[in-house]
Amino acid sequence: MDRDKTPALRVQQTSWDLSPLFASDSDPRIEEERKLVKRKSYAFINAWKDRTDYLEDPVALREALDQYESWKRRYGTDGDEGYYFWLRTQQDQNDPKLKAGFNKVDEFSKKLENEVQFFYLRIARIKPEFQQQFLSHAGLAKYRHYLERIFAEARYHLSEPEEKILNLKSATSSSNWTKMVNGFLSQEERLVLTEEGERKKLPFSAIAGLMSSKKKRVRDTAATAFNEILAKNVEAAEAELNSVFANKKIDDELRGAARPDALRHLADDIESSVVDSLIASVSTRFAIPARYYALKAKLLNVKKLAYHERNVEYGEISKRYPYGKSVRLVHTVMGKLDPEFAAIFAGFVQNGQIDAYPKKGKDSGAFCIYHQMTRPTYILLNHTNKLHDVLTIAHELGHGINNELIKKKQHALDFGTPTSTAEVASTFMEDFVLEEVMRSADDEQRLAIMMQKLNDDVSSIFRQVACYRFEQELHGDFRKKGYLSKEEIGKLFQKHMAAYMGKAVEQSAGSEHWWVYWSHIRYFFYVYSYASGLLISKSLQNSVKQDPAFILQVKEFLSAGLSDSPKNIFSRLGIDISDRRFWDRGLDEVEKLLNETEKLAKKLGKMKK
Ligand SMILES: [Zn+2]
Repeated sequence: MDRDKTPALRVQQTSWDLSPLFASDSDPRIEEERKLVKRKSYAFINAWKDRTDYLEDPVALREALDQYESWKRRYGTDGDEGYYFWLRTQQDQNDPKLKAGFNKVDEFSKKLENEVQFFYLRIARIKPEFQQQFLSHAGLAKYRHYLERIFAEARYHLSEPEEKILNLKSATSSSNWTKMVNGFLSQEERLVLTEEGERKKLPFSAIAGLMSSKKKRVRDTAATAFNEILAKNVEAAEAELNSVFANKKIDDELRGAARPDALRHLADDIESSVVDSLIASVSTRFAIPARYYALKAKLLNVKKLAYHERNVEYGEISKRYPYGKSVRLVHTVMGKLDPEFAAIFAGFVQNGQIDAYPKKGKDSGAFCIYHQMTRPTYILLNHTNKLHDVLTIAHELGHGINNELIKKKQHALDFGTPTSTAEVASTFMEDFVLEEVMRSADDEQRLAIMMQKLNDDVSSIFRQVACYRFEQELHGDFRKKGYLSKEEIGKLFQKHMAAYMGKAVEQSAGSEHWWVYWSHIRYFFYVYSYASGLLISKSLQNSVKQDPAFILQVKEFLSAGLSDSPKNIFSRLGIDISDRRFWDRGLDEVEKLLNETEKLAKKLGKMKK
């Protein structure tokens, strides 16, 4: 008998089985669960709220953390009830009964959260002379990095009343400005050409979508309207950004942050030296995106791409991927990588942890979600048989595998991933599945798929790094000059965009205002995490391709959760992520794909001119 290593997976259940939580929306156990959560939470609160010994005695702190951890592992502030109703509202967003169910438990949970937060707030205020002693105490080794994270953030905390004032003032000095400009933009409408060839008045967000249309007239009229809207609102945005930057500068000075991006790195549990080496490595390879855009211009038969045309798709990916076929494809790829990956996926599919198809009222995106670590992971999809949907399965499964591996190795206080590496597992699985897909595609299809893949990589890696450098210079200049005019901001913006796009993309008239709507720069320096996640993933892919046994190290990393900083986790695996060569290996993967794409385009006779 001929036996495949990974037996074919049967797909029977295509919607969530929530029975590990409750039998139905009116399960009488919901009521009991609420009472149980309340009882368990107050057992913890009442045991510790009047004690202070745990702030000075490591043995007492260990006892408190053990109790806190086991409460969090199973109950938290909302137990199964919160998880259940949140999941149900994603399945049906229009049912007011579900909304009410969720709101009720949410209110209950927030109240409990207020009661229980004394615990970690007090730990944050443990005197520095005790902190070192606690961190090196053998009995607290299990919670060392949890404590390190709290202590590290606490160093930048001001006194309680000062924090309160900053908090109360933050809306009027920053976020209200951003909301205002956003509000102005979303009210704008213009007459544009639709995909169907009609002239129609459309709102700002719909116009933005039309700028990547394959029809030149459609995208050009959309871009004209888009630029007009930005130009009209540029003065408000100038005032907004200057206020937002001033507020950020004041906060940083009060807290004693050494550089504008320092608190972002701290919150993401990543050393500034690691981010610096990522940014340096990527920005010396800007020739990669420049070559990509030159190739795209050739394939689209134009001399230069206008600024708004850089995301226009090349070719058509017509092959269909029904759900069952997609699941089997992903399962095979997982089996080749590691049997445990395939087993986790099989569990998700067979135990009703995946909600696969679009339904009326259902959330329109895709996600992978977990809550208390003792409860199942759930994945939501909206499968419509496109290639993109296959990759979405792989992506969300990556998050799911990541969760399951952490569950096996870590305690509840380290259950999670830092922002800087949250997308490693997802993009890792996605890229391996894409490679399998390409193996069975014909040349024309492959070229279209590769161009699309490169477009995604360029946007996630090079564009975000260019944006990061734009932000660095913005904050630097603002702090030197005290005010930045819209012309100065526009000039900086174009300088950094031109740096990675190269000569094949025009910095067209009007594009100097595109920072007006770019929301990233209002939330400071988090864009590096798109690049770090994907490049760590690519660097690991590169190592696995060279030596399949390296997957064991990948699993070690994926099991680590929040138990240490990414730098330390990798360093235990013999990898130094503050070394530029680590990032270069990831970039080599992108360059390899670009080389192959250029070769294929040539082979198909598309590079004649
Ligand atoms: Zn993701």
